[in-house]
Amino acid sequence: MKNPLDLTGKVAVVTGGTRGIGFEVVRKYLQNGAKVVLFGSRQESVDKALAKLKAENETWEVDGLYPDLTNAQEVEKAILSVKEKFGRLDILVNNAGISQNTPLYQYTIEEFDQIIDLNVKAVFYAILPAAKIMKEQGGGCIINTSSMVSISGQPAGVGYPASKFAVNGITISLARELGKDHIRVNAVAPGVTKTDMVASLPEEMVARISAQIPYGRPGEPAEVADAFLFLASDLASYVTGEILSVDGAAKS
Ligand code: NAD
Repeated sequence: MKNPLDLTGKVAVVTGGTRGIGFEVVRKYLQNGAKVVLFGSRQESVDKALAKLKAENETWEVDGLYPDLTNAQEVEKAILSVKEKFGRLDILVNNAGISQNTPLYQYTIEEFDQIIDLNVKAVFYAILPAAKIMKEQGGGCIINTSSMVSISGQPAGVGYPASKFAVNGITISLARELGKDHIRVNAVAPGVTKTDMVASLPEEMVARISAQIPYGRPGEPAEVADAFLFLASDLASYVTGEILSVDGAAKS
């Protein structure tokens, strides 16, 4: 019997795939037979991630690009180039993102725009060409990266929960719109996960957040990546419009 998590023959794009959660998603997809193109922000980080993956398994079919995700034309060109090179696109993971914890009275308009540009607009820019390709080939799957703050909000840095509420809105709405094209649209909502994003938060903030996690610890990037594997796989063939929390019950 075929392993229902097997992604052999599938082609995936993972934005923000050079480190953290995105890198683990790329590994997980490669381990399960997919071909993957990871998107990063700079050539050096893309090259470094590719070298690390190739060192782990030189037979993995993995490539890297670094389009400016806040530029719709560049994103479209990159997505089209994946289809040109690999002949199809089955899985789009919108994972690149930044967080903020600026108090309201210190916010600048530029800072707010910056998070909306990457966490929201770039998601739309990637979905647009990807969904057209998926529709043409008879189906596909889109997985966005939300956050537990899309349910609970957070006490500072309002741009971050605002962006993730928008990601949920995109996810739920497009699941309804694209079902007829056999495109599933879901999101993973991680809680506190041990990546650079968390390392860059003030220590006392991480400790405070961790103490409030009912499961008693932050998540590992690989644990979050498992949810992306499930949602991309045949095991989730009837799962769409879902925001899957992977947070040790932290949002409750
Ligand atoms: P990370 O900082 O370790 O990695 C972020 C990734 O996004 C990197 O690959 C980076 O290259 C990419 N990126 C950042 N800015 C970019 C830009 N301007 N253009 C292109 N790529 C850019 O972060 P992470 O913790 O792995 O976060 C990944 C996703 O998970 C984000 O969407 C984040 O909001 C979400 N998330 C993380 C946590 C957490 O605790 N780590 C919790 C909830 C949600």
